[in-house]
Amino acid sequence: VQRNQGELEFHQAVKEVIETLGPVLQKHPEYAEQKVIERICEPERQIIFRVPWTDDKGEVHINRGFRVQFNSALGPYKGGIRFHPSVTLGTIKFLGFEQIFKNALTGMPIGGGKGGSDFDPKGKSDAEVMRFTQSFVTELWRHIGEYTDVPAGDIGVGAREIGYMFGQFKRLTNRYESGVLTGKSPTWGGALVRKEATGYGAVFFLEEMLKVRGIALEGKTAIVSGSGNVAIYAIEKLQQYGAKVIACSDSNGFIHDPNGISLAIVKQLKEVERKRISEYVNLRSGATYVANGNIWDLACDVALPCATQNELNEASARSLISNGLIAVSEGANMPSTPAAIRVFQDAGIAYGLGKAANAGGVATSALEMQQNASRDSWNFEFSEQRLKTIMQNIHQDCFNTAEEYGHKGNYVLGANIVGLRRVAEAMLAFGVI
Ligand code: NDP
Repeated sequence: VQRNQGELEFHQAVKEVIETLGPVLQKHPEYAEQKVIERICEPERQIIFRVPWTDDKGEVHINRGFRVQFNSALGPYKGGIRFHPSVTLGTIKFLGFEQIFKNALTGMPIGGGKGGSDFDPKGKSDAEVMRFTQSFVTELWRHIGEYTDVPAGDIGVGAREIGYMFGQFKRLTNRYESGVLTGKSPTWGGALVRKEATGYGAVFFLEEMLKVRGIALEGKTAIVSGSGNVAIYAIEKLQQYGAKVIACSDSNGFIHDPNGISLAIVKQLKEVERKRISEYVNLRSGATYVANGNIWDLACDVALPCATQNELNEASARSLISNGLIAVSEGANMPSTPAAIRVFQDAGIAYGLGKAANAGGVATSALEMQQNASRDSWNFEFSEQRLKTIMQNIHQDCFNTAEEYGHKGNYVLGANIVGLRRVAEAMLAFGVI
């Protein structure tokens, strides 16, 4: 705590992991002897840099850029870039720390990292976003590479920003190094299904959790928070599976559509027009918009928080449970507060933590790296099947490990132990580094 003062989200993420590791440390005393946990909690490298840029009126702005290269025991650092005004070093460290375990869970050869900036893309023109992103990469390029560190998107960073980043990287290095970034457009080196992967993956994970309990997803009522990349494709897959999604949101409020959300309208508003979700009600009769409302006050069978960290608190968890909730699958990173997680676990509902449930995005990024390395491109059906198999394997690994340690159904414990074991074994093999 002393060394990482004020980094509250980072403390929260570390605490959540450490609390579950007692049993595995007893089985593996060498982890404690070799101080594996202390090593994992300290990033291998942290880069903080100035990002100056000019807006359309010619005014100069200064933002702060971050890249935390947390752990490379299993492969090059891998993790997204977030552009959001709330970003601090503590935010990036919490995300990077989670990423180590998540990436290990996928079974792919990728280490953990994360980056971003306190830049706010909202209300900025394409040209402003481009100039900012180019300035960001003018520093970042020297720290990344196919074999070193491979960033991707996250909040505020989608295909447009990845395009600007790749263009600037290519220009500065004079290298067409496709594998340096993932989340690229499929027209120039991106993988099909990457855009859909995190949302689809969270639904595949949900399906697996329900299967264990003998429950079908078809006919269930769902709530998905957020209306960004993860939320949109979680809604799409839920609808394909016959679930009815009645609400989604942005940071200003939520929409409630008891007839089931029209995904075509949401995609048009968010992906094409970059508008607010409140506009939905102007295009759809029977739907209502609740400004500053709490989406978790609505009743549903399954909840998929897909917006941001700590968006679902203890009171919301209690309200969801009393309204008949049976499962939570987290598309976002750390969306439920520690107290909310306790409520879910005490109630015995299926609780799929983000580290496991949203790992489909980074797993598909690793598939994008595979395709880039072999100069190949796979079709949609094949890629989706690979994603589904990976999510099924992650679910099975977490489930079996929780059972092995006497905590059947505790995916938090299962995921943290699977992730730790994989990273720790590699770190021990490398010696004290
Ligand atoms: P987007 O930027 O595409 O969408 C984010 C959505 O969440 C928007 O609707 C946004 O609303 C809302 N949101 C963001 N911040 C807040 C906030 N402080 N309060 C309320 N709502 C907020 O991001 P993604 O969909 O890519 O990411 C969503 C979550 O999923 C994040 O936690 C991210 O780390 C996680 N994730 C993403 C992956 C990916 O592949 N993209 C992979 C794994 C995890 P508004 O427009 O009002 O800001």
